[in-house]
Amino acid sequence: MPDLQQTTFTLEDLAARAEGRGGIPSEVRLAVLGSPVAHSLSPAMQNAGLAALGESARYAKIDCPPESLMRAVELARKAGFLGLNLTIPHKFQALELCTELDDTARQLGAVNTLLFDGSRVVGFNTDGPGLVRAIREVFSVDLRDLSVMVLGAGGGAGSAAVLQCSLEKCPHLVLVNRTEEKAHGLAKRAAELLRSDRLEGPEDRVKVIPWTESALREQLARIDLVINATSLGMQRTDPCLIAAQLLTPDLMVFDMIYRPPVTRLLEDAGSAGARTANGLSMLLHQGALSLEIWLNRPAPLAVMREALQKLD
Ligand code: NAP
Repeated sequence: MPDLQQTTFTLEDLAARAEGRGGIPSEVRLAVLGSPVAHSLSPAMQNAGLAALGESARYAKIDCPPESLMRAVELARKAGFLGLNLTIPHKFQALELCTELDDTARQLGAVNTLLFDGSRVVGFNTDGPGLVRAIREVFSVDLRDLSVMVLGAGGGAGSAAVLQCSLEKCPHLVLVNRTEEKAHGLAKRAAELLRSDRLEGPEDRVKVIPWTESALREQLARIDLVINATSLGMQRTDPCLIAAQLLTPDLMVFDMIYRPPVTRLLEDAGSAGARTANGLSMLLHQGALSLEIWLNRPAPLAVMREALQKLD
């Protein structure tokens, strides 16, 4: 058996397995499909969980270009897979190939987990619920009680975060995105999900602001939690997301990036006295929820967390 954390399989490897010509080892019955996917830490985390539960199934990563998603899903089913995780760029396209969607996947408009059950292909989204669990774990607060600013409110992860905050009925949401039109489209969907019996209308509770120092300063005064859902911060040379002098001790700052473990944003926020956390907890919780969907039993969180921490 190759090292499943180090190995990235191809669609041809999956086809060979489905047609009984070798390819991906027969123990592998779960995988993450993406492109690029080689950087994914999910095999280490999921295989630790599967082994701890005494399951014989194993989890691999498979590089799958966007135009081949349908074929890959068919091959995985034919090969006897239990299900799949989906990452960039498949989460939106996958909506169309599911025979059923759970409520969260429908409301978030994206799928990161597929369950194969006979002829059914059921789509789930564990990113949003994973974020809720992560925030509770790292800051000991409930997302629903927080006013939240999302940087990158237009990308896949940022959209999931904004819509999950709306489902949680967060008091205020501030959306910031380089491409502002995307944030406006997202704000409309967020306002629809926020409709409730509160006196304040949903439109007043969701705001899109330009990415300028003055707009950030004005809004940060009423924000509890800042979430970075952009890919900025992965490189040391990336531009600063929020000027250090705008960060205050009363803020919580959550960076979805987990490599490096301390981004410039987290470093600046920590220096300002703010509470900080990286995205490892979100990765853990979304993965644990996926494993529970496939196996219909509780995931061994401690073992999965340890496997991730070992890779750091
Ligand atoms: P994505 O769909 O490609 O979105 C990227 C986001 O980053 C968009 O909002 C984009 O803005 C913004 N962006 C990219 N380059 C930028 C720049 N130079 N200046 C300003 N904004 C920029 O990617 P994704 O799937 O949402 O992932 C985003 C990040 O979240 C990645 O770092 C990923 O590793 C992380 N993530 C973590 C977890 C976890 O479990 N911890 C889960 C999912 C994702 P535009 O709309 O203007 O392009």
